[in-house]
Amino acid sequence: MKAVKTHVGRCDTCGEPAAYAQLLAGGRSFRFCEQHAPLLVKKQAEAAASSNKK
Ligand SMILES: [Zn+2]
Repeated sequence: MKAVKTHVGRCDTCGEPAAYAQLLAGGRSFRFCEQHAPLLVKKQAEAAASSNKK
């Protein structure tokens, strides 16, 4: 499972602007706002963001 921070799209649950995206096999993805992002998605996205820091 891969998760990233995003500013594109809307939360699948509530329709608010998305803050996180969970990327699935086959090019599918789920999007979550701050409120609805599962803790694991947040952790993965934070880890990805910090490892990509330039
Ligand atoms: Zn939401």
